[in-house]
Amino acid sequence: MFDAVVVGARCAGAATALLLARQGHRVLIVDQAHFPSDVRLSTHLVWHAGVDLLDRWGLLPTLQASGCPLLTNFALDMGGLVLQGQPPGTRVGAAMAPRRVVLDQVLLDAALAAGAELR
Ligand SMILES: Cc1cc2nc3c(=O)[nH]c(=O)nc-3n(C[C@H](O)[C@H](O)[C@H](O)COP(=O)(O)OP(=O)(O)OC[C@H]3O[C@@H](n4cnc5c(N)ncnc54)[C@H](O)[C@@H]3O)c2cc1C
Repeated sequence: MFDAVVVGARCAGAATALLLARQGHRVLIVDQAHFPSDVRLSTHLVWHAGVDLLDRWGLLPTLQASGCPLLTNFALDMGGLVLQGQPPGTRVGAAMAPRRVVLDQVLLDAALAAGAELR
């Protein structure tokens, strides 16, 4: 018996399962893929708000330990116009671009550690 069944064990599903499991719900995650598993179509820049969430969930040190750096300075180069600077108003103040095989697994491991079950 489960309170919630989450279909898809990657960044969206694993994060959802993580939050539900940490609230004490019995969570089943199902995915047709076997993990660790990469996603070749997604580069996955995690923007500042997402990095703040990873920090709040306690997962930022694990991602940084994987060798993925924090990206603090941004430049959008449109030829004659270049926007450059640091986006304001976030806790960590950085974006990051972990490989999906790393990001998805860190989130999934955290969901499983919180008590979710994976099939
Ligand atoms: C080229 C490209 C570049 C991108 N770049 C970025 C970026 O830089 N930054 C960003 O934030 N987003 C980016 N995105 C978007 C990002 O990839 C998606 O928002 C993200 O992958 C969605 O995650 P998800 O966990 O919902 O789904 P997915 O990553 O698609 O995972 C879905 C999972 O569900 C499983 N599944 C689905 N249906 C079933 C089923 N019926 N039964 C069992 N399992 C099932 C699949 O096996 C899969 O593992 C990009 C996307 C593309 C295509």
